[in-house]
Amino acid sequence: MNVYDSARMADVLAPLGYRPVEAPEGADMVILNTCHIREKASEKVFSELGRLRQEKNRQAADEDGRRMIIAVAGCVAQAEGEEIMARAPFVDMVFGPQTYHQLPEMVARASRAAGERVLNTDFPIESKFDHLPGESASAGVSTFLSVQEGCDKFCTFCVVPYTRGAEFSRPAAQIIAEARRMVAGGTREITLLGQNVNAFHGEGRGGVTWGLARLIRELAEIDGLERIRYTTSHPRDMDDDLIAAHGEVPQLMPFVHLPVQSGSDRILAAMNRKHTADDYRRVIDRMRAARHDLALSSDFIVGFPGERDADFAETLRLVTDIGYAQAYSFKYSARPGTPAAGLGDAQVPEDVKDDRLATLQNLLNAQQVSFNEACVGTVLPVLLDKTGRRPGQLMGRSPFMQSVPVIAPGRLAGTVVDVRITAARANSLAGELVLADGLTSAAPPIDFPTPPAWEATA
Ligand code: SAH
Ligand code: SF4
Repeated sequence: MNVYDSARMADVLAPLGYRPVEAPEGADMVILNTCHIREKASEKVFSELGRLRQEKNRQAADEDGRRMIIAVAGCVAQAEGEEIMARAPFVDMVFGPQTYHQLPEMVARASRAAGERVLNTDFPIESKFDHLPGESASAGVSTFLSVQEGCDKFCTFCVVPYTRGAEFSRPAAQIIAEARRMVAGGTREITLLGQNVNAFHGEGRGGVTWGLARLIRELAEIDGLERIRYTTSHPRDMDDDLIAAHGEVPQLMPFVHLPVQSGSDRILAAMNRKHTADDYRRVIDRMRAARHDLALSSDFIVGFPGERDADFAETLRLVTDIGYAQAYSFKYSARPGTPAAGLGDAQVPEDVKDDRLATLQNLLNAQQVSFNEACVGTVLPVLLDKTGRRPGQLMGRSPFMQSVPVIAPGRLAGTVVDVRITAARANSLAGELVLADGLTSAAPPIDFPTPPAWEATA
């Protein structure tokens, strides 16, 4: 979501004459868009600010005595705004994830000769989405689109409800219009974003509320949009319609990130996840019944306060039962202001967390390797979305998000091609284009705008 937000910030700043550059050296403004989810992510902010301060000091002031504007955006700004203002006097602007549409006013205040320092971390009543300008650049072959933000679930370990605010869904018409503009600019794959994306309940046509499945079905009507994904979803919001959509909407990719965090009912209850491990197993069974080739990914936290060896064993058992194509796992990180951070004595020692993380990651890695190996010999539709590192190479993604570099002519960039998978690596697949009479077996390439939008994909 920070990637999406950063692109929108660039859109807001474009009419003021700003354009993105690759490096902070010589820039007029640097915005650090930050993440507060774990301690490690927030710690990086202050060390990064130290580097930016040096760059600011190196710059010669202009005739009005101004130097580079330094801004801190995102969830660290939201949570620790006052502290950043106090600890880092060289920072000019601090603003949270819900106020960046006000950047023009903030920049005007910060860039006056006697530059004012701006702290803007209120949660405005009006949605930023109603005030954002159109996209200033093509979005890329594969891109993100925020449809839902914030969270009302209050898992006891998590800062999101405090930093991103209350759950909010954008109106469907606004989302569809944005998706259409993206597709007209060359986008072929959209990942719908939300902290709880499947809790989406946006206003649809005629004032009726639409769920995520309805939104996906409508987006699937857009000509040229070949792939739809969504992330991150919550097991409790996986409703019948969304499960059915997996069997009915061909554009909806058979790869779902569905975090479970733990396989222990005791820990799930302490986390306030409001479901059991078996509830999760049943959801997965129903999804797999709807779409047989569905592959799964998840998030896990090890060492949540009070987690015993027996609880951790339940997590391993769940992973073994489900079989993941890929997953993320983290050591529990106590976040200020969250209920779990206050469970003093129950905190799990760091070395125990380390051991559990290593054990879990070994199992998950082995599952990823065997999933990738099972793809060898099959023909997969691959969306070529980026240039490769080697000449003549394009990078693509399989339906299951595996990275697939292939030797292919540049004109095929932005199209879905059939690739025979010849080898599996830990994090990617190797493959060859399937050729028939000198052509690929896929549909003829779509005419692409120049310069090709896919070059901009990060
Ligand atoms: N809304 C999603 C998750 C959003 S946060 C959900 O409910 O599943 C992304 C991931 O970061 C979480 O799934 C969790 O695994 C991890 N995470 C969040 N807070 C954490 C913390 N305090 N310590 C360690 N990992 C955390
Ligand atoms: Fe955080 Fe997800 Fe729980 Fe919301 S549902 S509090 S975003 S982990």
